[in-house]
Amino acid sequence: MISYRICLDLDNVLADTDKLMRSIIYEFTEGDVDLRYQDITTFNYWECNDKKGNFISKEQWSEIHDVFSRSENILTVEPYPEIQEYLNQIAGKFALHIVTTRLRAARKPTVEWLECHNFPEHSLHFVEHGKKHIALGEFKVSVEDHREQAEQFAAIGTTSYILAHPLNETTSNSATIRLQDWRMLCEHIVRQN
Ligand SMILES: [Mg+2]
Repeated sequence: MISYRICLDLDNVLADTDKLMRSIIYEFTEGDVDLRYQDITTFNYWECNDKKGNFISKEQWSEIHDVFSRSENILTVEPYPEIQEYLNQIAGKFALHIVTTRLRAARKPTVEWLECHNFPEHSLHFVEHGKKHIALGEFKVSVEDHREQAEQFAAIGTTSYILAHPLNETTSNSATIRLQDWRMLCEHIVRQN
């Protein structure tokens, strides 16, 4: 009987959402804002500049987020390579809880996406932004790309991992464990917890 629970973020943790988001931003701005992976240095897309210094407004972000949430876009997101394999290994020790702050419009295609990519047995939760650590009870382990959310998990005693992206780089001390890829994350989660 598996009694420990792991909280897994979806976007940019299980799924390569950023790639699609940047291409939606490019199309939405008719090529004016051409963000590269390394330009996404904060969690908020409207605070990121492309190499010419161009950026989207917060109002544009809101519209872009709606476009992203449509079924035809959600369903084209690529899962990270071999993510199902890693989750299968983790599922030997933890009950998997996939927890996302995606918009309401994205719920149905998100369920479909998880089914069509053969994710192992899991629970799926849609919660408010920044509330994962309080919305669903106690998790032994969490995996996030959003640094503030990861730090909130760490502050209440959850072993809090961050999948490394430019957006969560920092020089400050932190109780979180930031690892470069899923091979390292999986090994750490299975061995150390
Ligand atoms: Mg995320």
